[in-house]
Amino acid sequence: MRNLNQLGNQFSISISPDEKGFTGRECPNDECLGYFKIKFGTGLQGDSLPCHCPYCGYVESHDKFFTKEQIEYAKSVALNRITGALIKDLKKLEFEHRPQRGFGIGMSLKVEGRPHPIHYYREKKLETEVVCEKCTLEYTIYGVFGFCPDCGVHNSLQIFNKNLDLAQKMITLASNQEHAIAEQLIINALEDCVSSFDGFGREICKTYISKAMSPERVETLSFQNIERARDRVKELFNFDFSQGLNSNEWAFVIRCFHKRHLYAHKMGVADQSYIDSAGDTSVSLGRKVQVQTDEVTHFIGILRKIANNLSEKLNEVKQWQK
Ligand SMILES: [Zn+2]
Ligand SMILES: [Zn+2]
Repeated sequence: MRNLNQLGNQFSISISPDEKGFTGRECPNDECLGYFKIKFGTGLQGDSLPCHCPYCGYVESHDKFFTKEQIEYAKSVALNRITGALIKDLKKLEFEHRPQRGFGIGMSLKVEGRPHPIHYYREKKLETEVVCEKCTLEYTIYGVFGFCPDCGVHNSLQIFNKNLDLAQKMITLASNQEHAIAEQLIINALEDCVSSFDGFGREICKTYISKAMSPERVETLSFQNIERARDRVKELFNFDFSQGLNSNEWAFVIRCFHKRHLYAHKMGVADQSYIDSAGDTSVSLGRKVQVQTDEVTHFIGILRKIANNLSEKLNEVKQWQK
């Protein structure tokens, strides 16, 4: 049994990364089982660092995050080596005794069989590739938002700031376009800022849902109306995300949100409700509201402040005292 003995009683099987260097991971939490990928070697350095599930935040050691396919593969490689060695060892025992001069009984032992087949697999394609701003880990996930598998920080603020960068680029692009295209790009940039803020706000509040006064109300939060959102967040988490803005800045942000609403639903034509709620005296009823380049740039700057506020304050909030 030389070949079999040489295998020893344990051996390591390496799991190779995909063509872009990412290794698949699967959350061991039964209620999640989410699939994601990370690039080993990027991110935090050190032995036995835990892994955070980007979807549910579950924390466990890395060896609990093998995917089912990786485990199948590793088992099949082990069986392949064992059966291969066994067959080789048994082959050595083969013999053939022919009957002598056609008289007597001949005996033979022939070993047939092939090693256990290896179960190969391919890592799946995911939707968003992220480089963590905090620890530089490269990871990919389904959807857009998630926790960094290495340092555990949630990427919602990072993704939001990236979207604002994109909006800023659209504005820059507008500067050397003909009027109609430039106008559309600026309006699109404004709309993108609001929808990204809405996505960010909902996501980051959900991340801290356990700290909310009534968690079920966090699920229905919307950030498309900034004044209402400020009130809801105040009720749920007990802080004001407009803190640090002066009254001009806050009034300006409110007007930008109303302008976005007008463009999304009324082709940008001012109605009485816009004039009243946005406090915009520069436009008359039935006329098109203008959106200027520096207006959107200013808006982006203030949104970054509000987003930072939200992120910091949510982190500081104590568990709601019931
Ligand atoms: Zn999970
Ligand atoms: Zn990280």
